This record gives sequence, C-alpha cells and structure tokens, in this order.
Amino acid sequence: MLDKLNEIEKAALESLAAINDEAALEAWRVANIGRSSPVMSVFSQMGALSKEERPLVGQRANQVKVAIETAFAQKAEAVKQAALAKALTGEKLDVTLPGRPARHGRLHPASQNLRRILGILAEMGFQTYTSRESESDEYNFQYLNFPPNHPAREMQDSFYIEAEGREDNPILMRTHTSPGQIRAMREFAASDPENPPAIRIALPGMCYRFEQITARSEVQFNQVEGLVVGEGITFSALKGTLSDFARRMFGQNAKTRFRSDHFPFTEPSAEMDVECYVCGGKGCPVCKKSGWLEILGCGMVHPNVLMNGGYDPRRYTGFAFGMGPERQIMLRYKINDIRYFWGNDVRFLEQF
Ligand SMILES: [Zn+2]
Repeated sequence: MLDKLNEIEKAALESLAAINDEAALEAWRVANIGRSSPVMSVFSQMGALSKEERPLVGQRANQVKVAIETAFAQKAEAVKQAALAKALTGEKLDVTLPGRPARHGRLHPASQNLRRILGILAEMGFQTYTSRESESDEYNFQYLNFPPNHPAREMQDSFYIEAEGREDNPILMRTHTSPGQIRAMREFAASDPENPPAIRIALPGMCYRFEQITARSEVQFNQVEGLVVGEGITFSALKGTLSDFARRMFGQNAKTRFRSDHFPFTEPSAEMDVECYVCGGKGCPVCKKSGWLEILGCGMVHPNVLMNGGYDPRRYTGFAFGMGPERQIMLRYKINDIRYFWGNDVRFLEQF
C-alpha cells in the first residue's frame, strides 16, 4: 500500500508538471484531488488494513494528499500569472492615440478686463480695496454729496432691502463703487486722525441699478474706481495720471481729451475720452463718427466728501475716477447687446 501511495504521488506530480492552461489544470484537479481520485480511494480502503499497517498508511496518505494539494496551488498561481502576462503582451494599448481633451474653465470676459485694469493701476501704485455690495443710503448717497431728493439720484434707481426702522437710512444694493471711497477714507483716517495718511486705491466690483433691462442697460454691471487723496493733489495730477493710464490700457499712442461734466461727489468734474481704437479717430459707427470714445468719468473730490471721509478739505485734496469694464469690451469687440454678459450663454463666453 505504501508503494502504491508513492506511485500515486509520482504520477500526479509528473502529470501536473506538463500542464499549462486553466482547462487542463481543472481536469487534473478533478482526477487527482477529487472525491474519486487515487489518493482518496486509499483512504476508503483503510478499513481493510491490519491494525499495524493502518497508522503508517494513514500518515503516508495524508503526506501525499498535502503534497499534491500544495503542488496544485503553486501550479494554479503559475498558470494565472502566465495567462496575465500573455494578456498584457497580446492586448497592447496604443498610447499614441490622442486623449480626450480636458475642458478648462476660464474667467468671464468682464473679470478678465477688470483684472487687466486693476493690474495696470497696481503698476501705477494703486492698492485694490474691496468694499461691501449692500450699503446704507448714507454711504451710497448722502456722504457722497447726494442729499435726499437730490435730482442726481434719479439717475440711479435702486434696489432697496426691506429693513424695519431704517426709513431715514434704508439699505440698498450699491448703485456705484463710490461708497467704498468713504469707507476707505474713514479706515485710513482712523489710523491717525490728526494726520490721515495719503490714499491711492482702486475700488472694483459689482453695482446694481433698478433698470429696465435692454440692449443698453442691465441691472448689474462692474465698475472700477480710483481714489487719490493727499496734500497738494491737483487737477493736473488727475490729467497726468489718467492720460498715463490710457496709454497703458489702449497703447502708447492713445490720445485723450477731457470734457467738463457734472457729478455730485466731484468738483470740478470731467469725462475722459480716448481716441477711437476701432477706427483710429477717423470716425466709425462704434464712435458714432466722432472719433472719440467716452471711457471714464473723473473729477476733484468734493470738499464735503473729503470731510465725510475724515480728511480736512482745507489741508487735503484728491481726485477720483470711475469706469466700466464691460463697456470697454463692448466697444472693443463691437458687442451691441449688454445682456450677453450675464445671460450665461457659453457660446458668447467661450469667445473670450
Ligand atoms: Zn471710431
């Protein structure tokens, strides 16, 4: 019986060595480890053995069974690895095929131009100062020299926010970035009330007006405003700074002109035009044949505004200017409808 077990082990291991695929391996497993395999039949014949033989044969039969099973497990692993290696070499990937393009978002055209303007102003020493979008009537109008019932308020119909007990100073969405002038001046002045420091800041952000939405007017738009306050600031400083800004923004040969205008918070006030960059000043539909484009409003800060900001107008002067980033893009790209900007149509936005 022990000789027979040796033969069973030898035959099983030899036939296993020749196997290379999973189907043959499975057939081998059934034949050599299955219920009716030779080694299992030895166990079923144990009852016929003598008392002396039984433990020896039993021990040897177990050894053979373990040896066959161990060999099978090793072979199964080897066959699996071989199949994997074959699959890897057989099913080659063509890594030279172009991949699926990743879609990148980008900044809204208004944000792009806003950043460009702020970048140019930063080169000129203007620090960006962001201010709140909901304001009180005092900051949005009164401190900026728009008293209650002032006719200039008619130009800036507003979105009011309901708030109990604030009838004399209601909350509204800011109609311009100018309330930031007062907030900035008060903050700077608070640092040294006897000798408030000089200011050179840019105030960017969204403004809101209660308008009929048309091709020319929207309920929301960006503004960028500049404010310079200090001792001995003159109108020629305003003209020099803004002409320099126009050259940086529209090119070294950009020509500018100033026309007098009126704003409640500046005195004197002006509009700055830049020579039409679409036609080069010859006259075209964009500039309405005038050769000039209206780019920004500006003026010397009104003494009342300086005072409201904590700066003594007998000692300090300053100038301010404001412009619309969307308007500049509309002029440059001949966009004839302002509603495209906030309509969220990617066909428009993807062009920038
Ligand atoms: Zn033109």
